Amino acid sequence: GSGTTELQEKTLVLVKPDAVQRRLVGDVIKRFERRGFKLVGMKLLQANHGILDKHYHQLRQKPFYPSLLAYMTSGPLVAMVWEGYNVVRSTRAMVGDTNSAEAKPGTIRGDFSMHVSRNVVHASDSVEMAHKEIGFWFHSDELVAWECSDRDYTY
Ligand code: ADP
Ligand code: MG
Repeated sequence: GSGTTELQEKTLVLVKPDAVQRRLVGDVIKRFERRGFKLVGMKLLQANHGILDKHYHQLRQKPFYPSLLAYMTSGPLVAMVWEGYNVVRSTRAMVGDTNSAEAKPGTIRGDFSMHVSRNVVHASDSVEMAHKEIGFWFHSDELVAWECSDRDYTY
């Protein structure tokens, strides 16, 4: 394709409550900015069970689900939408393996997390899921379409 669609691909990133407590919000944002992605939505909020039941629908039968809910509601989190070329796949690579022990150094989890139950960030795992998840966490009028003046750098 011409690339227009890929350039406007979006993904959801959550800076989870452990990372907010540890003052890691800036470190996480900095990595996405440096990679060249564009921030198009961001807010600090206290999650509740209603939104998490939607967001983690596929995990509701897992034995760790109650502790996951407790973790994700333990304090505020930062929800962000990042946009750019292949942003879903690139972001998953930047976040690293779900299991912190397997997450490579240089990834967010590989640098900042030692356990799966406190793993610092969420990132959507497909374009389809990103679309759904962005809809759970953001109203459409909370996303801002803005032009980069420096497209050669950004893309
Ligand atoms: P990812 O966040 O890498 O997409 P999953 O979608 O498999 O991973 O799981 C979602 C989240 O559930 C994880 O990021 C982690 O916070 C939590 N989780 C997954 N597996 C476990 C586990 N075995 N014990 C505790 N928490 C877990
Ligand atoms: Mg997942």
